[in-house]
Amino acid sequence: MARIPFVAGNWKLHYDRQATRNLVNLLLAEVGHASRVDVAVGPTFTSLQTAVELVRGSSIRVAAQNCYCEDKGAFTGEVSPSMLVELGVHDVILGHSERRAVFHEDDALINRKVKAALAAGLGVIFCVGETLQEREANRTLQVVGQQVKQGLAGVTGSDMRALTVAYEPVWAIGTGKTATPAQAQEVHAAVRGLLGELYGGAVAEATRILYGGSIKADNAAELFGQADIDGGLVGGASLKADSFLPIVRAARGASVG
Ligand code: PEP
Repeated sequence: MARIPFVAGNWKLHYDRQATRNLVNLLLAEVGHASRVDVAVGPTFTSLQTAVELVRGSSIRVAAQNCYCEDKGAFTGEVSPSMLVELGVHDVILGHSERRAVFHEDDALINRKVKAALAAGLGVIFCVGETLQEREANRTLQVVGQQVKQGLAGVTGSDMRALTVAYEPVWAIGTGKTATPAQAQEVHAAVRGLLGELYGGAVAEATRILYGGSIKADNAAELFGQADIDGGLVGGASLKADSFLPIVRAARGASVG
């Protein structure tokens, strides 16, 4: 089955509403009605509404960078999945390595967030990836496998229609070091194999698995040309249209190539 490639920008803690407007307008001009590729932008919470209003009627969708696993209550500082849905947000990024490392989110919490976001009707971009130390100890497939199993515990095969996995080796995020296409493909194939064990072949074949970690215009095409890489989660290069759009074009090219 042909999977439509997906390229999502994770803007992290960058850009106020005016900068959001500027970048979204540049993206709309070229990929606002793109076919054969799905595109998402991921601004900060305070810029989500601005982005949602601008992309309305286009094929670009808006992703939040986090949410909590409860709908309401005494959880100071948190935002619920249903609040994101009310705003018109389409997806949420969960399990990002910065959430795991800086904010101490563990697999159990990420799992609760994944289930809450799916139950509220959000698409989930679920991130997994090994540290350099884990890769050097030859533990990559074990670590990523555990993250997938624990993060998706209780998620059903039909829930998986709204879920995208992002393989993001921690050593490649924001470092300028990219996994080689062969290194990335090995992990993507293993994740797809594991999804097959958990959910059966049809779900595994239909689930998109994105690569993330210093994707740029000059390495995107080769990465997206791998059999199990279905697009990218892009950090640094998503902050400028000039660096993000060539990555989207590379993904679109891979879908026809
Ligand atoms: C990310 O933060 O998800 C990411 C992949 O960042 P970068 O592209 O900057 O490595």
